[in-house]
Amino acid sequence: MIRKIGVLTSGGDAPGMNAAIRAVVRAAISNDLEVYGIYDGYRGMYEGKIERLHRKSVSERINRGGTFLGTARLPEFKYREIREVAIENLQEYGIDALVCIGGDGTYRGALALDEMNIKCIGLPGTIDNDIPGTDYTIGFDTALTTIVDAVDKLRDTSSSHRRCSIIEVMGRNCGALAIWSGIAVGAEVVVCSETGYHEDEIVDKICEAARSKRHAIVLVAEKVTDVNKLAKIITDRTPFDARATILGHIQRGGCPTPRDRVLASIMGVKAVEELIKGNSGCCICEVNNELVAIPIEQALTMKRDQVSEKYRAFKELW
Ligand code: ADP
Repeated sequence: MIRKIGVLTSGGDAPGMNAAIRAVVRAAISNDLEVYGIYDGYRGMYEGKIERLHRKSVSERINRGGTFLGTARLPEFKYREIREVAIENLQEYGIDALVCIGGDGTYRGALALDEMNIKCIGLPGTIDNDIPGTDYTIGFDTALTTIVDAVDKLRDTSSSHRRCSIIEVMGRNCGALAIWSGIAVGAEVVVCSETGYHEDEIVDKICEAARSKRHAIVLVAEKVTDVNKLAKIITDRTPFDARATILGHIQRGGCPTPRDRVLASIMGVKAVEELIKGNSGCCICEVNNELVAIPIEQALTMKRDQVSEKYRAFKELW
């Protein structure tokens, strides 16, 4: 029987994390559990930055981006002796279970705590949509909306000047943001780890676009290629003058979309339900519009090929 739940956000922040914290707090209190906020992720757990939360602590938060609990990185959390100090801090407050909101690194931290008998449930909070096991992560829809909005604006200026806009989006090693936004804006080319970088193909497609259009849009996932170099290549080898725009951290901020707020809220409630049932070492996933809890270990070793599948399925759009 658990009595006190801690909630934390860790790794990169994502819009909708506040909605998830709110749901955990409200669900816990409705089930007569005490709930504690742990500030700055595992770093705050190690440093003892813990505070009791009440229903009102999470009022007026659902519409705000970022995370009011803060987030931080503590690479040393992989060492047992560091986690032992963090667990002692939890024990001081009588916290016997945790909801850890973040990406795969956060899940690894949760799993390591679970192995030390702290009950943990993970929630997928990242704009990258790169967590295996779940169709969508909290924050992805908002980041996608931000990208589409920015590209629509760039398209206005790019078509006025007969330009090619090259837009670098986030996503680390996962092309979900690039591919989904590429579909949504009608991009000429998408370049990400799933598509590979093929310079001649890109140039051919842009030349083809130049025959019938006043502009072209290329979406590039971060780290796949240098967008400024690509702009020079396109300027040299096609009729378009090309400009690169790196959207950067703007993609992480902003009001969460209704979809992210709802996803975060129902996942937060489900996380508390799982802890009450006695489950631990699991993460909450959305699969075909249904929420399921699967072991974190299983999620971390699953292949995540839905991004490549999406690219292949819609290849004729490009
Ligand atoms: P994300 O959760 O967004 O993937 P990180 O990879 O930075 O972000 O992970 C967040 C935090 O999770 C790290 O700073 C660290 O404290 C913890 N963490 C990551 N990997 C492990 C691990 N193997 N064991 C224990 N804790 C980990």
